[in-house]
This record gives sequence, C-alpha cells and structure tokens, in this order.
Amino acid sequence: MYLENPIANHLRLTERQRFLLERAEFKTVRDILWHFPVRYSEFREPKAIADLEAEDGVAVTGRIIQTKIQKTWRKKLSIAQTLLSDGTGTLRITWFNQPYMGNILQPDRSYTFSGKIKKDKKGLYLANPDYEESITAKQARPLKNTLIPIYSETRGLHSKWFQFAIQKILTKISQETFRDPIPAEILKRYHLPSLKTALFSIHVPRTKKIAEAARKRFAFEEIFLIQLNRQKNRMKREKEVCASIHADPREIQGFIASFPFEMTAAQKRATRTIITDLKKPKPMARLLEGDVGSGKTAVSAVAIFAATQNKLQSSYMAPTEVLAHQHYREFIERFRERRISIGLITSSECRKFPSKAFPNQDTHVSRTQLLRWVAGGEIPILIGTHALIQDRVQFKNLALIIVDEQHRFGINQRAKLVQKGTPHLLSMTATPIPRTLALTIYGDLDLTLLDEMPPGRKKVTTVIVPASQRPRAYEQMRSEIKKGRQAYVVCPRIEESTDAMQLEMKSVKEEHKKLAEKVFPEFVVDLLHGKMTPKEKENVMQKFRDGKTNILVATSVIEVGVNVPNATIIMIEGAERFGLAQLHQLRGRVLRSTHQPYCFIFSQSPSQKTLARLKALIEAKNGFELAEYDLRFRGPGELSGRKQWGISDTGMEALKNIKMVEAARAEARTLLEKDFELKNEPELARLASKFKNLHFE
Ligand code: ADP
Ligand code: MG
Repeated sequence: MYLENPIANHLRLTERQRFLLERAEFKTVRDILWHFPVRYSEFREPKAIADLEAEDGVAVTGRIIQTKIQKTWRKKLSIAQTLLSDGTGTLRITWFNQPYMGNILQPDRSYTFSGKIKKDKKGLYLANPDYEESITAKQARPLKNTLIPIYSETRGLHSKWFQFAIQKILTKISQETFRDPIPAEILKRYHLPSLKTALFSIHVPRTKKIAEAARKRFAFEEIFLIQLNRQKNRMKREKEVCASIHADPREIQGFIASFPFEMTAAQKRATRTIITDLKKPKPMARLLEGDVGSGKTAVSAVAIFAATQNKLQSSYMAPTEVLAHQHYREFIERFRERRISIGLITSSECRKFPSKAFPNQDTHVSRTQLLRWVAGGEIPILIGTHALIQDRVQFKNLALIIVDEQHRFGINQRAKLVQKGTPHLLSMTATPIPRTLALTIYGDLDLTLLDEMPPGRKKVTTVIVPASQRPRAYEQMRSEIKKGRQAYVVCPRIEESTDAMQLEMKSVKEEHKKLAEKVFPEFVVDLLHGKMTPKEKENVMQKFRDGKTNILVATSVIEVGVNVPNATIIMIEGAERFGLAQLHQLRGRVLRSTHQPYCFIFSQSPSQKTLARLKALIEAKNGFELAEYDLRFRGPGELSGRKQWGISDTGMEALKNIKMVEAARAEARTLLEKDFELKNEPELARLASKFKNLHFE
C-alpha cells in the first residue's frame, strides 16, 4: 500500500536528509504524512519596511544582510540577531533561544517573515517570527488560498522541509485511491472526513475549521484503534478461567484487625470489591488508583492474605529496588504473626523471611535456593522488581499478581508476569490521570478509586518561594530538622549540563555540595540519583529511613512510593520542569506522618503562566484535579508519563473530549461483537495491531 512505501521511493533525498530522517525514525510515507502541523500561519501581502509601525500580523520580505549570535547577561538566554533589508529600510529580527536560526538563514538570500512588530529603545523589531524563504521555482509554494502549515522541527529537519516534502507527496496521492480504515458508517455517524480528504485538509487547509475537522478524525482514529485492542483483550479475558480464591471472611477480618490502623472507608470498599472479584473463577483485572499515601499497600496485602488462605501464591512487583525492599519489610510486619514465608528477589540479591536459624529475622539466600522454594510452592509471597519476570522464576500455583506503580513498567514486563499462570491481576497507580485517559489506556481494566486519605494527616503547607525568600525557607527547614524531622531536596537534573538553556538548572550534585558545605554544615546531607547502583541507592535510603541522614538531595527517583514518615519537608527546585501531577506525587512524599508537612517550591522562570500553574498545586483538592488541570491548560503533552502510554499528540488531543472517547469505546465494542477477528476490516485489523503492544494486555 502506498502509505507504507519508503519515503525514498517518492522523494529525492540528499545523504544528509536520509540520515536525518532515519535518525528521527521517519521511514514510510505514512510516518511523514502523519507528522501534522503544530499550527498554521496566514499568508499575508508583505509591507515595505519603511511603512512599518508597531503592530500585529505583518509580513515583510527582504534580504538578510547580517547575522550575529549573542549570549545575554549571566548566559540565561542566547539571542540571534538578523538584519533584514528591503531597499526601503532595515529591520532587526531577534530570535530568543533559537541560536540555530543564525545558521539557517543565509546571508544575501531573500525571505518573508511574519509576526508582531515590536518597539524598543533601538527601534522596531520582529521577535521569533514565522519565516519562509522567498519563493523560487524550486521551492514549495503554498497552494492558493491556503494557510501555511508550520511543523515542529525535529532533529535537524525543518518546518520548511516538511512543508515541501509533504506537498510533493500529497500531489502524488491525489491520483491514488486507498482504503479508509474506519468503516464508512462510523465516519458518517460522527461527521468525520475520509482519510484522503483529511490528509489534504490537515496539511493544506483553506480554513482553520477544515483543519480542525481533519485533526478530529485522526484523533478519533487513534483512540478507536487503541480501544479495539483494549476491548478485544477485555472480551477475551471475560472468557478465561482461573483459580478462584475463597477466604474465610472471619480470617480476613482478623487479618485487617491486626493492622496498626483502622482502614478508611475507601480502603474497605476497595477491599470488598477485590475479595468479590477473587472469588470468581475468571481472572480479575483491576486498577486501583489512589493518591500518594492513600494506603494502597494495605489493600493489596488483604488480597495476598486471601490467596495464602487457599495455599495459593502471590507475587508483588515494584518498579525499583528501593520500593521492593520497603514493601518486603512492610509485608514481613503484616504477616509476621502468621508465620507466612515471604521472598524478595531483585537483580542484586535474594532474601527470605523467616530465617531458619533466627525465626524472627529475615536472611540472605542464594538465588537458586529461593527459586527452588518458589517453584515448590513453599514461598507463598514473592516480592521483587522486574527480576520477577525472568524465565527462571517459576511458581507452583501463582494465583494473584500485584503490579505496584504499574505505569512504571513496560507493557511487555507486565504481560510476562501474567504469563506465569492465569492469575488475578491487581494493578496499582498513584498517577492521577484524567478520566478520558483512564478509559482509553486502561480500557481493559476495571477501575477502583481510593479517594480518601487516612485520617489525621495534616494538609501539606505548600509555598511558592520567591528567590528573595530562599534564606527564610532554609531557616524554616533548619528549625524543623532541629525538632527531629527530615527533609528532601529535589532537583530536576543529575549532571551539570553544558547546554546554555540548561545552565540554570540545578544539578543535584552541585546542590548537594552547596547544602552540605555552606547552608547546612551542621547536618548530615546525603545524595540519591538514578545513576547510582541499586546497592548504593538502598544504602542511602536505609540511612535516611533510619534517621541517620537529615537531608536527602535527590532527583525525581524519589517520586514513586518511597515511604519515610519522619520526612516532613520537601523542597523542589526548578519546579517548572515538572508536570503538576508529578509535583503532586513528589509532595506526597511528606504526607506520611502526623507532623505538619511543608513543601517549598522554587521556580527559575516565574512567568505569570508558570505561577498560575503552580498555584493550582495550592488550590487543587487532589491529584485528579491537577491532572485535569494539566490536560486543560497546558495540553495533554504535560501529563506525566505520556511517552509510556504511546499515544501521539493528536491522540492526546482527543482526551479533552469525553464524548469522543466514549464513542470510540462503544464503536470498538460493537464492531468486535459482530466481527471479533476483524475479518471484514483487514486494514483496520492491521493498523490496530500496531497499538497492541503499547500498554498492558
Ligand atoms: P500508597 O497508596 O501511596 O501506596 P501506602 O500504602 O504506602 O500508600 O500507605 C502510606 C502510609 O499510610 C503507610 O505508612 C501506611 O502504613 C499508612 N496507612 C495506610 N492506610 C492507613 C489508614 N487507614 N490509617 C492510617 N494509616 C494508614
Ligand atoms: Mg505505594
């Protein structure tokens, strides 16, 4: 099919272009046609430079007579300055943070720039305008009466080049016929344009409205393809058979009563739902979604306990060694009295509780020994990292798997664990995501929310700290630490970056040095980042947990699940680099005790927009609200973890529209009920299969 042909069949490419395309993973005609414009610029009649005033929406055409690149004060910004002449006068063009523009624009060539004319002390200038090399016979020219598409420039491939290449391909396509993957009646029902029309309308639209309609079609298509996979999995699983878990309700009550706390109403509800699921002979597939600190572990412990009552095995997978250890310790406490054995497996070590020699303690064991016990069914609970999914790990009768912070695992990792039997699955996540996204990517899971926090938790006092108040924030931190509390300081980066843009970003090492030597010489300040070995990380965490460290300077490795109740202060540097939901996760680190927690937020670019966004952290009631906020105000691209979901920017746009998501879901289900293997829709089946491996199956 035409769309799957290599690009090189249809365009003459230079060596360099070939290389750039390959590097950016553009292989087929489809890859390039699905690189949609990020926006459109309106074509305008150019004005003479001499006639310009400070005004909006102006185009000027002229020759480049000079270009220079500068770094501004304290190297915060790099600026390229270009001087344009059109015979009637000269005009400055300023490129902020786009130093490469200095190299792209060739002296003595003629270009058209459009944008807003501004005025400063030195006169009129244009800042970061759209530009286009003046049209010569060889150049792409906008089709008559159309908007100019502006493409995101990816790794050396410029917007202009995309415009040229795509128009060339479209010209050829106009004679081709190709099959629309979406069934005609669905297109009709939702008033969506056909594939071919949509491709033209998105790349060379006459109006923005037409472009919008095309974009909507592509968004629908993507969500529909994802739903076909989700609903298919769901329907398949509805037919599967697995071990049902029946535990004596009195035993379960007894187990819950042994917790050092009373479960919240939400925890009780979730537990009941799960226990009911487990009794059925068909595998549970449930997502337990609850804010950081809402107590998901306790809920999962009850499910595991139920399985042990039937002499069935459970396995608990955590995304990091730090977390696997932490859960291992917590589970030992929960199950200690009942003498239930627990194993720990990570890539660096294996442990078991209880030890033969000292029944109150756990002990290091060899991997071979641990695996033998697991295979023999003598260890009913196995906790671990992705080391759990290796082929060597075999269970005697695995009936339940818990995947903690499930979004941190790749799809294949999760699928592999499920393959070790036909177990019930409980996925857990603290990443609050909007409902539309949950319906889409977790379309094959049932959803349970833990929407209540354990009682007695204080609300985190969140402060956005202006630079001038930094010393005060440090003083507050000092006084809390003197009272016996501990603190996290989170920075967005590990190494000092050489890139001018990132110079200002706090490097965690540098920050650690500053805090340890200058600001808090009287305290023990430690360091944790992603490049340390698992062993090193565990040592650092252990020291922090034991209270030997006062301040832990870390990258966002601590984002997930780490639980140190005595840590009540978190300082976040460069907060503008994080999504709101992620900041909320970080803040959750200090929500674990009954002492008053504090979150101090520092931002290096406190524009009004950034501040407004950060303020949402103070006002929002929970993580779900923040995720919705990110989706609405910054666009779907800001939702953390989006890369792993494997949804394109266009598909993410659809998530703003609950009606569209629900329609795609219902249509997918209806179609599969009629034609489960999509035998009558070969093109649809082929495209849908591409989305198969993106998420949990
Ligand atoms: P998360 O949902 O983020 O995984 P955890 O399961 O780690 O949260 O629980 C956070 C903390 O709250 C733990 O220290 C846990 O022991 C405690 N906890 C859980 N449920 C309750 C409850 N109902 N009442 C009081 N404390 C609780
Ligand atoms: Mg957790």
